[in-house]
Amino acid sequence: MLSIRNLSKTFSSAGEPVHVLRGVDLDLKEGERVALTGESGSGKSTLLHLIAGLDAADGGTIRLQGTEVTALSDAGRASLRRDRIGLVFQQFNLIPSLSVADNLVFQARIADRHDAAWTKELVERLGLGPLLKRYPEQLSGGQQQRVAIGRALATKPSLLLADEPTGNLDEATAENVLALTRDLVARTGCGFLMVTHSLHLAGTLDRHLTLHAGRIA
Ligand code: ATP
Ligand code: MG
Repeated sequence: MLSIRNLSKTFSSAGEPVHVLRGVDLDLKEGERVALTGESGSGKSTLLHLIAGLDAADGGTIRLQGTEVTALSDAGRASLRRDRIGLVFQQFNLIPSLSVADNLVFQARIADRHDAAWTKELVERLGLGPLLKRYPEQLSGGQQQRVAIGRALATKPSLLLADEPTGNLDEATAENVLALTRDLVARTGCGFLMVTHSLHLAGTLDRHLTLHAGRIA
């Protein structure tokens, strides 16, 4: 469902080129859940940004279910992200002025992909029922991340991308949040690519890849 070939990305730092991705090849099957590790600065976030269309690659191709992401305009990448990609970050990134209930459906409404029955199921599976009227600042980290995962999946994306989603959580909460995410991803059949620093958590997904020297090792 996701096919990446020879992907490259170079940044410029103080006038010097920094070759971050030097020919990344990666394939994700329908419904596959894959962990990506690699040392700090190896380009994991950069790779996720390119897949999500948040930034443009310098070379190579990214295909998501028949769409060549790397050939899209900025606007094309924005609609792809809105309609087919769910994003989860380490910092949760909930909207502080919106209740949990409104945070959950915010993106789905913008994308015109809101589905009340699916939202209800997400609320139940993520245990968010008692929290719906609260605001993000009234939630623990684990609770905030459960809302963020619900929000990302509310649009029924084809692919869920998560950049260190458990990085700010204690071990037990991280396990719990990831277990819920794994189950939800299996329920929706979407692909799941998660960046993590935890080798233990990486081992709980279907496959574990490592980014090293600009390539998938
Ligand atoms: P971490 O595990 O610390 O999050 P990472 O593997 O996610 O690291 P990236 O954030 O992808 O690493 O960064 C890879 C390299 O690209 C780093 O050397 C970083 O300094 C550089 N880089 C990332 N974004 C930019 C940018 N916008 N401009 C210049 N350099 C950048
Ligand atoms: Mg990163």
